[in-house]
Amino acid sequence: ESKLQLVQRHIRAFPDFPKKGILFRDICPLLKDPAALTAVIDLFEEQVRKNYQQVDLIVGLDARGFLFGPLLAQRLGIGFVLVRKKGKLPGTTVSVAYELEYGKAEAEIQEDAVSPGQKVLLIDDLLATGGTLFAACELMKKRKAEVLGCMVVIELKELNGVEKIKPHSLFSLLQY
Ligand code: 5GP
Repeated sequence: ESKLQLVQRHIRAFPDFPKKGILFRDICPLLKDPAALTAVIDLFEEQVRKNYQQVDLIVGLDARGFLFGPLLAQRLGIGFVLVRKKGKLPGTTVSVAYELEYGKAEAEIQEDAVSPGQKVLLIDDLLATGGTLFAACELMKKRKAEVLGCMVVIELKELNGVEKIKPHSLFSLLQY
């Protein structure tokens, strides 16, 4: 079995969650299985070492980006910073408003989390409409950081989030 197959086997789908008509991809089984979680980080690490050797920081998105981002950053020997939903971070923050697949939100970073000119990779569990990653890209732009690319475990192809985050590139492990 390949690493990718191992990862795929540990993702479940739940119909009508959190709302009717949405097929929710659940990554909890991935976290419960150490070999599968290691495979996820291995695959991300391979991609970064091949294509993003200049990366300074991994930027994780609230909340499931926090599950994979720090593990990847540790592997790479670089730092991890958080993009959070509004009101969670102390100190001076920078924020942007954005639309979700189901609702509205505001994303925020601490002003000193990312410095101008730093090269960052954004990470989340899943790309749907791309609204969340787009907002994180906007935050990076506000801080004058350079987004090398975005990485997700799962890309929902039919919502075409990849268009939304352009010109930034997307790397996804699995596509549905
Ligand atoms: P987007 O902003 O691209 O429309 O939605 C992506 C965000 O919503 C991500 O932060 C992701 O965690 C969450 N999300 C939306 N749909 C799903 C889903 O089916 N499964 C999981 N695990 N997260 C989802």
